[in-house]
Amino acid sequence: MEFEARPGGCVCGAVRYELVADPVTLYACHCTDCQTETGASFALSMIVNRESLALLRGSPEPRGCRLEDGREKRSECCPRCNTSLWGVPARYPELRNLHPGTLDDTAWLEPVGHIWTRSAQPWLRLPPGVLGYEGQPDDMLPLVRAWKFRPR
Ligand SMILES: [Zn+2]
Ligand SMILES: [Zn+2]
Repeated sequence: MEFEARPGGCVCGAVRYELVADPVTLYACHCTDCQTETGASFALSMIVNRESLALLRGSPEPRGCRLEDGREKRSECCPRCNTSLWGVPARYPELRNLHPGTLDDTAWLEPVGHIWTRSAQPWLRLPPGVLGYEGQPDDMLPLVRAWKFRPR
């Protein structure tokens, strides 16, 4: 199926981009880092190939910091409004962890899996049929397959 390019950008409009190919997968992460960083109950992670992101306007600024446990966290943000557009995974430089809330149309963003459910908010009920992991999955392949073969 042909992928229709999906535009997105930061809150101030200085950076605009287009997702030009189907993502690798989309899952929700309930780890406490994601909760702290976003100020939300969980974060959506859309794994995409680096080449699937085409900049239309502006240039995101690289940001990096070392977490308390020593891991390095890198992302690219709008230099004006600081919206974090995507993470740059240290171990997989060819991938980006797109923050899919920055897409203009978010109605199609139904995660196929949920990770770190052990720190999920107690009121949260996972929808039937989705993949669930108590912590970090050893193998991302089931999440990749579930996205590829998702009903649509
Ligand atoms: Zn901005
Ligand atoms: Zn997380």
